[in-house]
Amino acid sequence: MAWQSPISPGKSWYEATVPGRPSYPAMDGSRQTTVAIIGGGFTGLQAALNLARHGIDVTLIEAHRFGDGASGRNGGQIGTGQRWWPEEAEAELGLERSRALFAMSENAKRHLLDFARNHAIDIDFMPGHLAVSHKPSYESDFRENARILAERYDYPHVRFMEREETVERTGSSFYHFGSRDAGTGHIHPMKLVVGLARVAAASGAALFEQTPATDIRTVEGKVIITTPKGTITAEKALLACNGHIGPLERTTARHVMPIRSFIGATRVLHDHPEIIPGGESVADSRFVVRYFRKSKDGRLLFGGREAYTADNPSDMDGPIRRQIAELYPALANIEIDYAWGGSVGITMSRRPYVKEVMPNVMSVGGYSGHGVMLSNYCGKLYADMVAGKANELEMLKDMKIPAFPGGPAFRPLLLFVALSWYALRDRF
Ligand SMILES: Cc1cc2nc3c(=O)[nH]c(=O)nc-3n(C[C@H](O)[C@H](O)[C@H](O)COP(=O)(O)OP(=O)(O)OC[C@H]3O[C@@H](n4cnc5c(N)ncnc54)[C@H](O)[C@@H]3O)c2cc1C
Repeated sequence: MAWQSPISPGKSWYEATVPGRPSYPAMDGSRQTTVAIIGGGFTGLQAALNLARHGIDVTLIEAHRFGDGASGRNGGQIGTGQRWWPEEAEAELGLERSRALFAMSENAKRHLLDFARNHAIDIDFMPGHLAVSHKPSYESDFRENARILAERYDYPHVRFMEREETVERTGSSFYHFGSRDAGTGHIHPMKLVVGLARVAAASGAALFEQTPATDIRTVEGKVIITTPKGTITAEKALLACNGHIGPLERTTARHVMPIRSFIGATRVLHDHPEIIPGGESVADSRFVVRYFRKSKDGRLLFGGREAYTADNPSDMDGPIRRQIAELYPALANIEIDYAWGGSVGITMSRRPYVKEVMPNVMSVGGYSGHGVMLSNYCGKLYADMVAGKANELEMLKDMKIPAFPGGPAFRPLLLFVALSWYALRDRF
């Protein structure tokens, strides 16, 4: 039987279809290293790989298996830009910084695709993305966005779609209009995790699975990390734990919170060629976004229902099937072969969290549902920064990220109320 993540519910279609997912040993004993990394998702693995390439001694520990966090269980949509639309960033940060952030995300996109190509990692890349609107009142925003991206961001790949084209491209009459982005696409994230770990190990990074960090502190300028069977003593450390940080480090936990998102994979839909005939990924305009796409083998991978507590739901299929049926009534009784959840690390401002949280300890995460390309790139940027190369990570470090108010017990409740409000607003 394929491995199933112990930190998130359900076995994913990705876990079931990734060929040859190797296990890495648990750390047994104590180690000295130059850089210690906690967390084996995209951020941590890319950082480990690139540090090793810079000739820097690096040790990475993962509490479970690589990709068991968000990196191996997500929607696989690469997207374009940051989590927010550039025109929103312009209002707050000015045109120049907004353009720099957009350019950074284009670099991230290139980095991910080049990385997979250069290492012959087959990530099932499929091109194209559709953004679709569930409200008629967003029309001018959609039209403006395509124009602004072309004129101010040198990104001519987004084109407004009228309702007729939107219906044709999604195979659903639910959405009012949308836009098509020909400059991005979607991937099988677990294939990327497995390939990434292989390349990192081959580059000389010391990689350990099943090794949770139970404590981190700095003593006389050194970072000391405790694990069940030994300690790591390092010059520097990277916390790449994202929404799974838990009680390990409080400052990160105050700024990056987990929300649960669920995905279902239907049976193969050879009998429904009308559904997304162009093979693009799709994301809608809801605050609690619905995101879906066809897999390479012809299933509908549909994500959407979010939950704001850590509890695992008893029924994952039912709510996903109901959401699918809203868009595709012909699939009202469709078989869901796989259903799974994962924790999305979000911040208050929905901007990535990049901060020094203790002397020589950097925390990087909280990509707020937009981390497939950004987490890979930020991991690499962290490594470049340690190697003495100034880079775009500085831009994110400088950004103000407010903490979620309240203590550890109150924060999840507050988030539940706030996000339930947004979910309600999506309906009207
Ligand atoms: C259901 C879902 C759908 C998503 N869809 C998309 C999408 O379509 N497009 C997109 O861009 N983004 C999406 N995301 C977000 C994206 O997956 C993340 O932003 C990205 O994977 C973050 O990578 P990471 O390495 O920072 O964190 P993670 O992949 O979450 O990795 C953190 C790791 O740290 C480990 N860890 C935590 N604490 C410890 C400890 N004490 N000791 C050792 N290890 C520890 C965890 O076990 C985990 O493996 C989605 C996320 C989810 C959950």
